[in-house]
Amino acid sequence: MLGIAALPLGIELRFLDPAPNGCASAVGEQIVGAYDDPEVIGRFCEGLDVVTYEFENVSAAALEQIARHAFVWPPISILEVSQDRLSEKECMQSLGIGTAGFQRVDTEDDLDRALGEIGLPAVLKTRRMGYDGKGQAVVRTVDEATAAFAELGRGGLILESLVPFDRELSIIAVRSMTGEFRAYPLVQNTHRAGILRTSIAPAPDIDSGLQAEAESISKRIADKYGHVGVLTVELFDVGGKLLVNELAPRVHNSGHWSIEGAVTSQFENHVRAVAGLPLGSTRVEGEWTMANLIGGVPPAETLLGIAGAQLHLYGKSERPGRKLGHVTVRTDRPGGPATAQEICGLADAHAL
Ligand code: AMP
Repeated sequence: MLGIAALPLGIELRFLDPAPNGCASAVGEQIVGAYDDPEVIGRFCEGLDVVTYEFENVSAAALEQIARHAFVWPPISILEVSQDRLSEKECMQSLGIGTAGFQRVDTEDDLDRALGEIGLPAVLKTRRMGYDGKGQAVVRTVDEATAAFAELGRGGLILESLVPFDRELSIIAVRSMTGEFRAYPLVQNTHRAGILRTSIAPAPDIDSGLQAEAESISKRIADKYGHVGVLTVELFDVGGKLLVNELAPRVHNSGHWSIEGAVTSQFENHVRAVAGLPLGSTRVEGEWTMANLIGGVPPAETLLGIAGAQLHLYGKSERPGRKLGHVTVRTDRPGGPATAQEICGLADAHAL
């Protein structure tokens, strides 16, 4: 989707992906190889002006090597912070931004102490390489915490309080090389088993104070790192107060609706930012629902038979829990909510 957004701007593209025939190869040359293979990186970088990434488990060391040949945006420093849930939360703390209560857990003694501090229920998470609900367990008893520690505890862990949120939101924003900052309206997200299922944009019932608070959180983080590109902050809304759950220094699944719903999509704005071009408007007209297609895909002819449904398939093979595509529909018109419900029902019925 980034590549599709970049082509009309006259930008030539090359992608690095360990899997042959990655979906991006449809819009540009693909180098197949490991992210951390110096020979591969050398070939990948030849002649490139700017390198960006849209997957936060790419190694910072590989990006350091790439940075010797081309500009790398967003900054590697924000990627490194976002790769470690502990440094991410410590960074929020240093900026005076609220998060769930958290404690570092490396040993069983740490776990006892953390349970004493945080209490139950809580969430035990791996600090690194967790995404889409992987590497984490909700624990409601000490026995469950001990069992989760035995399962997850080889690397460093973090114990977080289980936040009794009213809803999950995300704020997607973009910052340019000159420090210009623009945000999209807050998005409301629902997850199942830790995987994003649906997003509604703009999120319903948002007063201007909440939008301003979310933008202020995002801007403080973006400014701290001299961020360039799209930055997504996942938030818990707890009685009208925002707590940060996670940062993603990249375009985000909860912003996919912006392809149809915003004057400039998150993808185009990311490309504009990292290429040093002027940012586009983040204005949204109407209300949009995005449903993810996870693990399995309803027949395209069924989805496209629904008036107003916009289908995006990523060309990936079916696998349980894998994001294979999404459908976007405008919902502020007569019949819109019923259409969104029909699409979400179909997506659910085929999900694995
Ligand atoms: P994460 O991988 O940290 O984004 O977590 C995936 C999902 O798990 C989140 O979107 C929430 O639905 C849920 N979750 C994660 N951490 C917490 C927490 N501390 N309290 C409540 N729910 C959480």
